[in-house]
Amino acid sequence: MTTTSSGNNGTPSEDIDTSRPHPARMYDYFLGGKDNYEVDRAAAERVAAAAPEVRASVRANRAFLHRAVRHLVADCGIRQILDIGTGLPTAPNVHQVAQAIAPDTHVVYVDNDPIVNAHANALLTDTGNTSVLLADLRDPGAILAHPDVRKLIDFDEPVALTLLAILHFITDAEDPAAILATFRDALPEGSYLVLSHVTGDIHDDRTEAAAVYNSSTAPLTLRTRAQIVDLFTGFTLLDPGIVQVPSWRPDGPLPADSHTVGFYGGVARKD
Ligand code: SAH
Repeated sequence: MTTTSSGNNGTPSEDIDTSRPHPARMYDYFLGGKDNYEVDRAAAERVAAAAPEVRASVRANRAFLHRAVRHLVADCGIRQILDIGTGLPTAPNVHQVAQAIAPDTHVVYVDNDPIVNAHANALLTDTGNTSVLLADLRDPGAILAHPDVRKLIDFDEPVALTLLAILHFITDAEDPAAILATFRDALPEGSYLVLSHVTGDIHDDRTEAAAVYNSSTAPLTLRTRAQIVDLFTGFTLLDPGIVQVPSWRPDGPLPADSHTVGFYGGVARKD
């Protein structure tokens, strides 16, 4: 088991800031979790008032993550996953989905919120195949060079990079395309990118819901489908391309609220 948080196991409670909403904790609240504070719940309720589909959307995003990981491990032979923007533990987590199919799958979780690290024990297995580290997507070089990443991920073998519901927390000024290019260049051929992203395309106006995040630790940038397509530059999309997440290779009939879901997602391969 490996945990990295300023060199200790878990995070001191003083690192948990309850004065501002945190996206990880708001997301946990939307999913019905208990790892959130009053400030998060109040902000999340403001989002839900302005975007009533938000709970259905995060559930659908989670289900997309599960289907994508299952596909990559069961059908594409992936045995290494770098999951950035992990969020609070929500069973099943990526390693549980992957290791249920192939127990030898290595999973490295990365998040910049100390609360995720504080709950790391729920994300870790005792097989030594999983680790959690506190790092920021905006510094891809530091993630790629991190000793825990290097220990579990062999960059000579295919890797799945999973970026679910995180890139909308990267502003245009922070240059998501450059961040993705750094990862793309580090990944060998046969690697995969799984990405989901909030959009304003589906509903008339979601700027008010998005603006709630201005008071949180990370502002939220809505992007159009065309902008999200651009994030996959250098990768080849698998069928059915970039779609509202419930429509990505559904397991069965789509739930009635699927058309309201405000997330686009896709899976692509580096050829
Ligand atoms: N990937 C999970 C959780 C999404 S919630 C899922 O799709 O179900 C978004 C997560 O991204 C939060 O945990 C938040 O803390 C994290 N995050 C936001 N900005 C980040 C950044 N710059 N670097 C690393 N993690 C970030």
